[in-house]
Amino acid sequence: MKKFIIILLTLFLVGCDNNDIVTDISESDDCIFSITYPITNYKKLNKQIKKYIRRTKDDFKKNYCSNKLDRQELNIDFKKNIINNYVNIKLIVSIDNRKVIKTFVYKDNKKISIYDILTENDLQILSSYINTDLSNLNFEFDEDNLYIYTDETIIIPLEEFDLNFEINKDYNINGTYVYNEVNKTIDKSKKTIALTFDDGPSIYTEKIIDLLNEYNASATFFVLGNKVKDYRDTLIYMLESGNEIGNHTYNHKLLTNQSDDEILYQINETQKIINETLDYTPVLFRPSYGSVNKKIRNSTNLDIILWNIDSLDWKYKNKTKIINHILPKIDNNKIILMHDTHKYTYDTLKELLPKLKDYQIVTVSELKKLNEG
Ligand code: ZN
Repeated sequence: MKKFIIILLTLFLVGCDNNDIVTDISESDDCIFSITYPITNYKKLNKQIKKYIRRTKDDFKKNYCSNKLDRQELNIDFKKNIINNYVNIKLIVSIDNRKVIKTFVYKDNKKISIYDILTENDLQILSSYINTDLSNLNFEFDEDNLYIYTDETIIIPLEEFDLNFEINKDYNINGTYVYNEVNKTIDKSKKTIALTFDDGPSIYTEKIIDLLNEYNASATFFVLGNKVKDYRDTLIYMLESGNEIGNHTYNHKLLTNQSDDEILYQINETQKIINETLDYTPVLFRPSYGSVNKKIRNSTNLDIILWNIDSLDWKYKNKTKIINHILPKIDNNKIILMHDTHKYTYDTLKELLPKLKDYQIVTVSELKKLNEG
């Protein structure tokens, strides 16, 4: 019996899906962080990623976060590729205009080296491309190519190799989703506020949507493009519950520091990915950190939306403090900024919503429409 329970427990733990994306965004007078990284089903891999991020953040703080005239920005984004149970994680670290790539390849909770995937013959082929120590190679692969990151990026088609395993090209294709606008009645005579959530989605987003549903409220979620595919189901639930999706850049770079091309990429890539994934086109844009100038305004036809009340949830990290900060400022037509990336924001909302019974809570587009007549 004991054995049976242990087997059951093991099955449960192994089958447990821990996949999530962590968002760590904060700013101070002298520096800015925007760090996004995945939590996978592999504990060792998660530990390695966290260790690398911690070290990068500490180095950045030491070297960049003091006595500078301009605020310095550390941006960490990621790409995840799962090929036949090989989890390929690529972290893209940007400081100013410098980029560093760090990769992790794991399978069955074990670190995979290039020797694990290439045959003797393949290694010979590889040596015609690079001439460095292969044991600590910074590499990853997808269905088609092997990518090696040294001072430059080397891309080699997998066709050139025999490989120690067969690439399985049947990847999961999600069913199509057709977006239908949810009909809602809005009372013109009632005091109205718009709730907005930035930087998501996250594992807390669905719980936040449940709460909104309970109070017949809706909100605008300004999402990051790099999370859209992983949270497709959450976003569908968001739309079906009558909420709105806005564009909040691809990976939260401070746009006022970026080139024209990068600004366009941050906005347009996010529009594209939302459109392709959800058959939905956002009409609102909220620049990361609310930081905007004429160049950014001229880069898009989307409506740029900031806020009237900043909950400062990321700073207070405590529901009572956040509520005490927001409540006195609540008034008709205000737009409130929160973040659906933290448990304390959910806890705040749970206590805040019953206190807002005099208001109808709508999306930003609904608030706009209401004020237009
Ligand atoms: Zn943000």
